[in-house]
This record gives sequence, structure tokens and C-alpha cells, in this order.
Amino acid sequence: MLIRAVGGAGYSDDVSRRTKIIATLGPASADPEIISQMVDAGMDVARLNFSHGSYESHAGLIAAVRAAASDHDRAVAVMQDIQGPRIRVGRFPDTAIQIQTGSEVRLAPGDGEGSASLVYVQHLGEVTLEVGAPVVMNDGLIQLEVTSVDGETAVARVVEGGILSNHKSVAFPGAALDLPAVTQKDAADLAFGLEQGVDIVAASFVTSGDDIARVKSIVGDLPVIAKIERVAAYENLDAILSVADGAMVARGDLGVELGIAPLPRAQKDIIYRTNEASRISITATEMLESMTSSPRPTRAEVTDVANAVLDGTDAVMLSTETAAGGYPVRAVAMMAAVCLEAEASPGYPQSTASVSGFERSFASAIAHAASDAAANLELSMIVAFTESGLTARLVANYRPAASIIAFTPHESTFNRLALVWGVTPLRFPILDSTDTMIEEAGRRLLERGLVEPGDWVAMVAGIPPNQQASTNLLKLHVIGSGSTGAPGGSKQTPRIIGSDED
Ligand code: PEP
Repeated sequence: MLIRAVGGAGYSDDVSRRTKIIATLGPASADPEIISQMVDAGMDVARLNFSHGSYESHAGLIAAVRAAASDHDRAVAVMQDIQGPRIRVGRFPDTAIQIQTGSEVRLAPGDGEGSASLVYVQHLGEVTLEVGAPVVMNDGLIQLEVTSVDGETAVARVVEGGILSNHKSVAFPGAALDLPAVTQKDAADLAFGLEQGVDIVAASFVTSGDDIARVKSIVGDLPVIAKIERVAAYENLDAILSVADGAMVARGDLGVELGIAPLPRAQKDIIYRTNEASRISITATEMLESMTSSPRPTRAEVTDVANAVLDGTDAVMLSTETAAGGYPVRAVAMMAAVCLEAEASPGYPQSTASVSGFERSFASAIAHAASDAAANLELSMIVAFTESGLTARLVANYRPAASIIAFTPHESTFNRLALVWGVTPLRFPILDSTDTMIEEAGRRLLERGLVEPGDWVAMVAGIPPNQQASTNLLKLHVIGSGSTGAPGGSKQTPRIIGSDED
């Protein structure tokens, strides 16, 4: 069951769930009414997979997400997932062929029409193959082993055969690849995304910090999530995290390269290290896979989602379930319900206490102090006034039990914060004094039914207001007491020594 804080004046803010939900949009969720229901069910981020779809269809989806978010008065971010240098096979007569186990197949560069003994492999850059190297096609279903290499072509023995259709993916686990981080298609797609005002970019098949830097050089200050789907990316995780804003455990393709058995350990490791680096961690792929064709997930799937939550992931992602499945709204609602239940487990949430890159800054000290105060006073809410979103993110890194409300006057910050663990972004006007901001915040929280008169909350802000990187103020505040913080009609009695006055 979804637990909601239902407020006055028709507001319905779900501040209880901390883990964010990313849902991929596609043909099954293209209808604006379905998108509206997905927002209502808990979709925080709408992912557009640029491996599929036309610009026209993406533009339509973005418009529908913006409209649904506005109708629900909720922050919903749009994530543009670019295809990256994913290598694909060419074409086949009648669109597919049977590759026989034990047969030999020649691999040649190009996008021509192949056969059961000749498979064209898209030439995106240099791939160095050695005899004995594995080659994996169609998401790991077809496995080959290189038996000889001759110039630009190679011959491989089929270890496990299967049906291979046009443009299926091909991976070369462990091989040295010299591929562009941003293909021509990606560059055009990013330009389109910027024009459409997407909020977050996810970069596929990156392998290094330089690859992320390349994407960042195109998208400016948009957050960039590195999809960890190559062994090389996993090996370079620390370098990638030094540049990226987050990392996605892209279990589909990573499982192809790494193998299935090591995947759970890699997931835990990637989430842990991403959180330690104060970056956003996302767990993706096949989370509720059976809901693609069934209204209910399996026990194993919901346990998988819960375990990702308990691993400390910031967000969980739905792919085929919502893009092409029969139950996109139910899948989001199920994800929300499972996250909520998992979050009620003993010991959750575990603080990473990491503010990597912002150690010994005013902002991190204030975030730490606010989390401490919230724990000490058992506050149910920390309010962050934030320009760039940084203060709210730093507070979230301490994984407080209190809800984090981020008030911001900037639409881009409002949307981007939809992906940050535990944060509920709310719009806020530009006001010129901290006192007015505190009063107005209290009024808005009351209006939305998120607090009651007399509630204690922690507020973090910057003086002077409306400047980036100025966080320097922690205010312990009693709702309904103006800006002074003096108790007013309090339903609580002070529980610790000291004063709640300035
Ligand atoms: C994955 O491989 O797990 C993934 C998320 O990437 P995509 O859906 O783009 O294949």
C-alpha cells in the first residue's frame, strides 16, 4: 500500500518513500493518460531510451511528462539515455537466422546482409580480438569463441547457438576496444535533448572518466550518469566517479560481459563505492521483469528490488516493464510499494556519511549538523533552501530518517532533485530575506499538509539568500512561530536541554 502524506488544498506529496523510481517510457507508456497515472503511482524520473524511437516520439513523451508533472504538482525529471558505442550485428535474410551450435561463423566489419556463416559487425572503432577471445551476441544468448583472426575479419566457433536477428547487440568481453565515447548519433541526440530541455543524461558503454568528460563537454552542467555495463567501466569505476554525477548498475549488458554469477557482488560494490563517492547510484534492468507480461511480479523479483534498496541504492529502474510491458502503471506502483516496505527494514537507511569533494565546507558541515539535529530531536523533516540542489544532496548523503524538503526557485534544480534519494523538491519564489523565506516555507508546508502547527523542523539555508554555494545557516524552527523559531501552539514539549530560539 502506498503511504501518502495527503495535504490540504488537494496536495498529495509522497514524502515517505526515499528510494527514487525511474521508469522507461516506450510504446506501452506513450499515452499521456498512462504517463499521468505513472506519475501518480510514483514515477520520479522518466527515462527515454535513445536506442529506440524517433525525435517526434521522444518530443511527445517529454511534453506528456511535463504536463503530468505539472498536473500533479510534482517534480519528475526527464532522463535522456544515449545509445553510446553499442556494437550491433548487421542484417539477415528475412530479418533473422539460426546460428548453429558447433558451426563456424566469419565476423566481418560492416552493416551488410549476412548469413548463418557470415555475420557483419558494425564498425564503430578498433576492436582487438585474440584467438580464444569470447564473443557474445543477442544479450548473451549466443556465445562464440574466436578461432582465428585475419586482418579485419575473424572466425569464431559457436559455443552456444540461437536465433540472431537484425541489429542485435554484440559484445567482446575483455577485448581492447577503441571506440568513441560519443558517436555521431549520440551527438545529434544530445543536441536534440538539450533543445528539449532534458534534466539528466545517462551515457551508455562508457569506459573511462575521459568518456564522461567528453559527454559533459557537450551537455554543460546537466548531471551525467555513467552506465556501468562494460568490464572496463567497472575496472575504472573510481576514475569514472570522479567525473560523473552518478553510476547505473546496468545489469543487462554488464551481465553479458561480466557473466551472471559475479553480478550481485558487482552490484553491491558499485552501489557502495558510488555512495562513498557522494554520487547517485541506480540499480537497473529486469527488476520486475515478469510484470512485462503478468500483473504480478515474482517473489524473487520483489526481493531483488528490496535488496537493492537495502544495498543503499538511490534509485531503482524499470525498463521493458514500463516501455513495452502490459502493466506499466502497476509496475511503478509495485516498485513504490516494495521500496516503502524495504525501507521499513531494521537498520535502514545506513548513512554513507560521505560528502566527497565537499569535505570541510560550510555546506557539508551544515548538512551534517542538520542530520544530527534531526536525529537528536527526532524531527520528521529537514528543509533545505537550495539554488543548485547541492545542499539537499549533501543532507541526503547523511541518509537522515527525516524527510528532506528542497525548496528551490529554479526549475532545473527542481526537476533534477527528483532523482536524489529522500528529497522531495518543491518550488519556491525568490525572496530577499532569510526571515521571509522561513515564514513562507512554514506557510507552504502547512498548506500542503506536510507539517502541523507546533512541529519542529530543521531548516538549512544561505545568508545572503539566492546565491550559489552560500549554505551557512541551520535554523531549528517551530512551525507557526513566524521566523523567530519561538514555540507557538506547540504540540510538542522541548525534549532536550537548550533553547529553540535564535
Ligand atoms: C542495461 O544494459 O542494463 C541497461 C540499462 O542498458 P540498456 O537498457 O540501454 O540496454
